[in-house]
Amino acid sequence: MAYNITLIPGDGIGPEVIKAARIVLEASGVKINWEIVEAGEEVIQKFGTPLPNYVIDSIKKNKVALKGPITTPIGTGFRSVNVALRQTLELYANIRPVKSYKGVPSRYSDIDLVIVRENTEDLYAGIEHKIGEDAAESIKIITRKASERIARFAFELTKREKRKKVTVVHKANIMKYTDGLFLECVRKVSQEYPEIVFEEMIVDAMSMKLVQVPNNYDVLVMPNLYGDILSDLAAGLVGGLGVVPGANIGDKEAVFEPVHGSAPKHKGKFIANPTATILAGVMMLKYLGENKAADRVGKAVVKVLEEGKYLTRDLGGNTGTIEYAEAVIDAITKGDK
Ligand code: NAD
Repeated sequence: MAYNITLIPGDGIGPEVIKAARIVLEASGVKINWEIVEAGEEVIQKFGTPLPNYVIDSIKKNKVALKGPITTPIGTGFRSVNVALRQTLELYANIRPVKSYKGVPSRYSDIDLVIVRENTEDLYAGIEHKIGEDAAESIKIITRKASERIARFAFELTKREKRKKVTVVHKANIMKYTDGLFLECVRKVSQEYPEIVFEEMIVDAMSMKLVQVPNNYDVLVMPNLYGDILSDLAAGLVGGLGVVPGANIGDKEAVFEPVHGSAPKHKGKFIANPTATILAGVMMLKYLGENKAADRVGKAVVKVLEEGKYLTRDLGGNTGTIEYAEAVIDAITKGDK
């Protein structure tokens, strides 16, 4: 059996890390028919929009997509394609596992936590406008439906992965209605899971604690904006954005991607680290129920990082994007023997 999967190369280093992930996934033994569709800054001239309808149609048809990062202009220009994709397909759960790997230089060696970020509302609802020339206003949306849904997702993930603790991150001391509602919903859902330790943390204190004692944390659930910021912070604890994957999951479709962006300054050099995209592919294989293949690829990545012979520049090595992917493929093949 072959899976039909939508492949979005994206902007900047996107096509390079996607190419690397694609050859690794093809070596996993799982048969995949890729449907390659274009989205992002670089296709506006061709389609008149950074998110052509055929991209959404393809994901709706195939249900699963692997995606490279897409550039969003700062302060002006088109709305984020990433946010639009997540909202249009109601991919409400953004899952970002943050793990230490032997061989990856970082401040800590034993981090294993998961950030569960609400992915459809908060200040990302995109409801903002200028008030004359000297003021602007943005509206933060939090609903009971989305908050309970992400809370349940976080507790179910904790149960499924045999994890122990959920920490809800909020700022309900200041935003009493919006974050207050989010907190109230997570508290309510937590009561359905008495076996899971439940803890609450204000986002500023959480930022400090993550830097000081990151291994005190297990699963963190939070509204959209805090999730965006804290996942980059957490990536910094385990060696950087080059190694942290992500998944956007809805009831019908799922889009897998690295946490990092399009890093335009590295475009075309084939020096970017494809580990995050390869690990997003591992999350995708698990989602498809291909656990053995996921395990093979995951172990091969761990082996290559641990050996330290083929490391990309961000990790202190000199290996190129595709050369690194080939080392992972080699480790898959050797692991099979
Ligand atoms: P970035 O993640 O692209 O880069 C931040 C830093 O991390 C840079 O120093 C970069 O060199 C480094 N880096 C990132 N990925 C790397 C990799 N695979 N290998 C080696 N080094 C890596 O963040 P940015 O510069 O703030 O954003 C660039 C663009 O990406 C922006 O337009 C932003 O909107 C977009 N973005 C897209 C997504 C997405 O598609 N999901 C996510 C974040 C940012």
